Amino acid sequence: MRYFSTRGQTEPVAFQDAVLMGLASDGGLLIPESIPQVGEKLDAWAGLSFPDLAFEVLSPYVGDIPEVDLRRLINAAYATFDSKAVVPLHPLKDLYVQELWHGPTLAFKDVALQLLGQLFEYILEARGEHLNILGATSGDTGSAAIAGARGRSNIDIFIMFPEGKTSPIQELQMTTVADENVHALAIDGTFDDCQAILKSIFRDLPFKARWHLGAVNSVNWARVLAQVVYYFHAYYAAGQKPLAFSVPTGNFGDIFAGWLAAKMGLPITQLILATNENDILSVFFNTGRYARGDVKFTISPSMDIQVASNFERFLFYRLGENAEALRGAMESFAQSGAFHLDDGAPIDDLICAQAVGREETLATITAVHEEEGYLLDPHTAVGVAAGRALRKGDEPLVCLATAHPSKFPEAVNGAVGAPLATHPRVEGLAGLPKRSTPLPASEDAVKAFIEAHGRR
Ligand SMILES: *Cc1c(COP(=O)(O)O)cnc(C)c1O
Repeated sequence: MRYFSTRGQTEPVAFQDAVLMGLASDGGLLIPESIPQVGEKLDAWAGLSFPDLAFEVLSPYVGDIPEVDLRRLINAAYATFDSKAVVPLHPLKDLYVQELWHGPTLAFKDVALQLLGQLFEYILEARGEHLNILGATSGDTGSAAIAGARGRSNIDIFIMFPEGKTSPIQELQMTTVADENVHALAIDGTFDDCQAILKSIFRDLPFKARWHLGAVNSVNWARVLAQVVYYFHAYYAAGQKPLAFSVPTGNFGDIFAGWLAAKMGLPITQLILATNENDILSVFFNTGRYARGDVKFTISPSMDIQVASNFERFLFYRLGENAEALRGAMESFAQSGAFHLDDGAPIDDLICAQAVGREETLATITAVHEEEGYLLDPHTAVGVAAGRALRKGDEPLVCLATAHPSKFPEAVNGAVGAPLATHPRVEGLAGLPKRSTPLPASEDAVKAFIEAHGRR
């Protein structure tokens, strides 16, 4: 498979290059030259294990990794999960919760980042290269990226986090990893400071080239692909009937994977996009207006995002795969902070959207616990609330559970009135030795650290 940029100004690249590249060099996002169709294979895949299903779904998108190798990488990635089904469905009265949090850091980002770690290591080894990954995190991404890269001989990973401003559990998940190739940088500043440093370092092209710097952000094509698989898995686990999905959304990565699954031919009747008070996406799908606002801090912090980095992929298809029209829309958004899609056609025939506020989120956690004895984390609760409000037909509804409740104990315990949001792996973190390097919020300090500790 070859990959092009949404902005249409790069040469096509093969899968392995697309994975290492992350962002296209013209600033766009990579998209495949065509979307593979599942056709009658859909029936043939019934009964496959998650790794075997992942192999089938992924292989038409790959093309430059031999079958035995791709299978081995996928098997290794999902052997780290503590559920045999990897992404099991938990039935509630009126819907299914799909638990995507059985990986090492108890958040759904592990599904993608465990595989990405394997792919990076494999590709770098074949090329005899070393990669220094640099990232900035406000929480889940950093710990999941570290869990995917730890112990790999041809990767060093440097993750900046705002000291004291992530949740205590997220911080422990980053600072208690003992592997020498992991560098947790406790920045004396905000998440915005960390991101500004990151962007500025990536703009320094000579430095980036000298240290072979790479990123693991949510626009990486391999991350999107890994997420497509669980939509298929849900289809078989729920008895091979058409399904509706509700997806708690921040960067539009997870829900874009569902949209792609539908375009491949998976029978999805509805994709319900759920946001918290940061509602730029739900406003867009309800009105056509996409306008940047100020980030609001909520009890579902991993969705406290205004500009959704994967949204450009959806927009590219929505604009008829017209790179020029896409460039125009992105330029208008970059200049004025807004653009309006008003070509008279419906925005999308699958996606409908709703924002869910704090009170409704907490009430959903309380009610599901009281009625069914099941704990939802705040992100998942946003999806359950929106799913219940917007579902239309009689099709089964699958709500994606993106984090284990123990990652957000304050909100969950408050909602259920008891300290129930625990997990043995979270408890275990408290006793481990911690290792991180405090640094000022300065580009020079971070660069100096990479020069001292990075490898080439
Ligand atoms: C990242 C994250 C999300 C949002 O996922 P996107 O792909 O950015 O839409 C939702 N919930 C949790 C717990 C997350 O970590």
